Amino acid sequence: MLHVAESIAEIRRHVDGWKRAGETVGFVPTMGALHPGHLSLIAAARAENRRAVCSIFVNPLQFDRKSDLDSYPRTIEADRRMLEGAGTDALFLPTPAIMYPPDFLTRVEQKKLGDHLCGATRPGHFTGVMTVVLKLLNIVGADRAYFGRKDFQQASIIRRMALDFDLRTEIRVMPIIREADGLAMSSRNVLLTPEARRIAPGIHRALADAGAAFASGDRDAHGLKDRLHRAIGALPLARPDYIEIVDPTALSPRDGMALSGDVIAVAVFFGNVRLIDNFVLGEDAGGVR
Ligand code: AMP
Repeated sequence: MLHVAESIAEIRRHVDGWKRAGETVGFVPTMGALHPGHLSLIAAARAENRRAVCSIFVNPLQFDRKSDLDSYPRTIEADRRMLEGAGTDALFLPTPAIMYPPDFLTRVEQKKLGDHLCGATRPGHFTGVMTVVLKLLNIVGADRAYFGRKDFQQASIIRRMALDFDLRTEIRVMPIIREADGLAMSSRNVLLTPEARRIAPGIHRALADAGAAFASGDRDAHGLKDRLHRAIGALPLARPDYIEIVDPTALSPRDGMALSGDVIAVAVFFGNVRLIDNFVLGEDAGGVR
């Protein structure tokens, strides 16, 4: 049965009860408009813990464009049904006033990992993400929390924050779930026009092609980036925000030779809709090309 908790005290009451009974708790923070990518995290939480908790909160602090916050899809009734069907034990559903009361003053800041990629083009975004994730992890007090590799930079930043702040919740990062045509699943995909939706899988094709070029011996990071710029630049309607190959730990742009394990990370606008995707060099395309 899915317990829906709208207050901090209520979600803690559920989790504390389970923990007193010796049960482990997995936690999946989301912004809702759930899709199979989110449900894969719930499945992982259930597989590795006795109880699974999800949160849905569209966090105003992490949006750098008001139009993006206003247009972010909200499908709470469908979300509840999906969570129930996936065997989730509790949903934490706070309001902005509960998360950020008028006297809220503190922000989480991190050096370096947010300097590149989304951090460079979305000022304040990761401070907003870290602040809400730290609050949610403290509120829920789970044994493990689950994040998607789709938001690769976010996962790296949260992992670092958990280490730096000695958080007791273990951070788990899970694979990207894609549509059959390769497009990374995202709550924002429903905002694409039908034409953009047809074109958008070209992003993953470009990443996989660069991955294949790397696998067949093409190691020059600039050459690989040129190839990506050409392929993504050739997609009608697509406007790249960034296209990078980065060191997987420092997240700094790779110069010279690309190495196995490096990550191709891209953000691409279709109109106002900004999509991100990434691909680990030296891995295959997961059967989707
Ligand atoms: P969001 O609701 O977009 O904030 O995402 C909530 C969590 O789901 C984040 O950890 C995301 O990385 C993860 N997620 C979103 N889309 C996918 C996907 N296609 N595959 C795997 N995880 C995802």
